[in-house]
Amino acid sequence: MSKYWSKLAASLEPYVPGEQPKDRKYIKLNTNENPYPPSAKVTEAIKAAANDTLKLYPDPNGDELKKTLANYYGLKKEQVFVGNGSDEVLAFSFMAFFDPNNPILFPDITYSFYPVYAKVFKIDYELVPLNEDFTLPVDKFFKDNGGVIFPNPNAPTSSFVALEYIEKILNHNKEKVVIIDEAYIDFGGESAVSLIDKYPNLLVIQTLSKSRSLAGLRVGFALGHEDLIKGLDRIKNSINSYTLDRLALIGAVEAIKDDEYFQDTRERIIGTREKVLSELNKLGFKIIPSKTNFIFISHPSVKAEDIFIRLKEEAILVRYFKQPRIDNFLRVSIGNDEEMAVFIKAVSRIII
Ligand code: PMP
Repeated sequence: MSKYWSKLAASLEPYVPGEQPKDRKYIKLNTNENPYPPSAKVTEAIKAAANDTLKLYPDPNGDELKKTLANYYGLKKEQVFVGNGSDEVLAFSFMAFFDPNNPILFPDITYSFYPVYAKVFKIDYELVPLNEDFTLPVDKFFKDNGGVIFPNPNAPTSSFVALEYIEKILNHNKEKVVIIDEAYIDFGGESAVSLIDKYPNLLVIQTLSKSRSLAGLRVGFALGHEDLIKGLDRIKNSINSYTLDRLALIGAVEAIKDDEYFQDTRERIIGTREKVLSELNKLGFKIIPSKTNFIFISHPSVKAEDIFIRLKEEAILVRYFKQPRIDNFLRVSIGNDEEMAVFIKAVSRIII
């Protein structure tokens, strides 16, 4: 606490990202990064762009990237917004579409940045408890509200809700914006992008951090009706004209264009995930069905926190949330086959 802080700064409860320790070399399975490098076309384009043009500001609208995304998803450029990681796009969306004194709805177990944004922008919210098996209680989103947001698939539970249920939520909330945070959609779920032309209240947010191996580049985007995109632009242009730098814009375009590499790496991750789940199943773990590049698991006899600590001693980092309902679960990102073999070996020893 400092006497120089504004009331706002003093009142915040900032988000805490997964740890990135530097004391030794870890197998990092704690922040849902992609184990594979970005497409070589991305790094080549960024290297080529690291030149004198950096003295100039980037395109404030990111037109080339918007066009590339629009083309990829079969939309118009005016239906695309781009930002500095999907976290920024989410923050702008809270500002653009939600108001104080009209509680928005999101699940009790979900991406922990949502309550942080709600507090910083003074937006009231109501938590909708997930079902006992962590599936989404769809009809609990049919009541009056100030807007809806949830990830699909959900984080950290990894479960996916089918599009027919998303449509029901959209139909029951026609006067409010429904935001579907699809950070993990490319690992087996079905995107709600196909519903955009039918529902002007739908905003789909995605990121290049996970399935395109670009967590370090910070590129996220939103897809939705032109009016929603204009709302996001109003917020962005009132805060920072140039949220994406020249290198990020160029790298992101190449990442979207290299679809072959994208398909190959995401299929490899899905394949590894299924192998790991079958091994963990044999070891007696309780497993939540996953459509993400991470898994959410619990063991009937050894506490999640103990497994977390023992794994860390063996230089394997996973994510443990000491929070009601999920304090006996571990969230484990899917690494490459070698990393996951080391993980399985370590857990087998730990649970004996
Ligand atoms: N949404 C969800 C559900 C996430 O788990 C994450 C990653 N922490 C993000 C959004 C943000 O990703 P990024 O800012 O890297 O695009």
